[in-house]
Amino acid sequence: GSVIGILGGGQLGRMLSVAAARLGYRCHIYEPAANPPAGQVAEKTFTAPYEDAAALADFAAGVDVITYEFENVPTAALDLLEAARPIRPNRRALAVSQDRIAEKTFLSGIGLRTAPFAPVNDLADLDAALARIGAPAILKTTRLGYDGKGQARIKAAGDAPGALAAMQGASAVLEGFVTFSHEVSVIAARGVDGSVAAYDPGENVHRDGILATTTVPARLTAAQQQDAVLIAARILNALDYVGVLGVELFVTPQGLLVNEIAPRVHNSGHWTQNGCAVDQFEQHIRAVAGLPLGDGGRYADVVMENLIGEDVDRLPDLLREARTAVHLYGKAEARPGRKMGHVNRIRPRS
Ligand code: ATP
Ligand code: MG
Ligand code: MG
Repeated sequence: GSVIGILGGGQLGRMLSVAAARLGYRCHIYEPAANPPAGQVAEKTFTAPYEDAAALADFAAGVDVITYEFENVPTAALDLLEAARPIRPNRRALAVSQDRIAEKTFLSGIGLRTAPFAPVNDLADLDAALARIGAPAILKTTRLGYDGKGQARIKAAGDAPGALAAMQGASAVLEGFVTFSHEVSVIAARGVDGSVAAYDPGENVHRDGILATTTVPARLTAAQQQDAVLIAARILNALDYVGVLGVELFVTPQGLLVNEIAPRVHNSGHWTQNGCAVDQFEQHIRAVAGLPLGDGGRYADVVMENLIGEDVDRLPDLLREARTAVHLYGKAEARPGRKMGHVNRIRPRS
């Protein structure tokens, strides 16, 4: 097939579309919001809600395979789409990553370590969970959280009512607070033939709950680096996964803990655009299109910096910087907290 359908029209869908075009594929975007960044580069954009069965059918009929750039696609829409075309990565990968409890249950079920956790639906649950897990802890909505939204920190038991109120009635999960030295992520891919390729882990720094920078190489021992890649491979194989996966990890003296997984290309993998022959976007397109996976080897040291909100005002200076690649998402308005683009600063590989 030669047309790839992408659910979601943000910057990830845009960069997937660019990579697909390089390989000779055309992309169709399905996105409820008007004027999505991906729509500027895709062949066709369907602007309709996920409840619109006719629009979904129309979209599916025009593509050979369906993928997505965000994990919160409603289940009913997926049921309709899956009846028409293959969805890659598969439904189980989506189900597991849409729900933090399902995610942590899956991860611990395949022998990986996570923060201690407990489901919370009311204050009695929360008090019991805090008694078991202890403070400090973090209460998170089970579903739909991103960029640190839908989270409340609990320093002591007295913070419980306020934290629960912050969930606004949504079901939640309490997680024990992990004292990590730093955070890393692994971007890895699995092909239709079951082959696996992983990028070098990146070290991530967050600001105000949003990824600020990713640096490769990450500060990891050779053993930790190998462990990180093996964790990603175990997840890919357990899910019979096809596509690119992001795995966020906490580095602790006791080893690596999995924070969360993203069944898609990931912000912390943007460095691959200028550090590798085949970046995460091309790798994902190769995987979902049934092509062989590409060379994910790293040929440069890279620091990826997100341009958030008014950071784009620095564009004139950034464009003049040596060894710096600028990537912009074509968003008109620079609202606070909005990801507008990123830069990759490269050095010869150390
Ligand atoms: P993303 O935008 O990556 O999807 P998110 O909203 O899903 O983010 P998390 O990744 O769960 O949120 O948490 C955001 C950040 O908060 C983490 O990267 C980490 O810095 C911190 N954090 C989350 N959970 C824990 C924990 N259990 N212990 C310590 N820190 C945590
Ligand atoms: Mg997340
Ligand atoms: Mg995260």
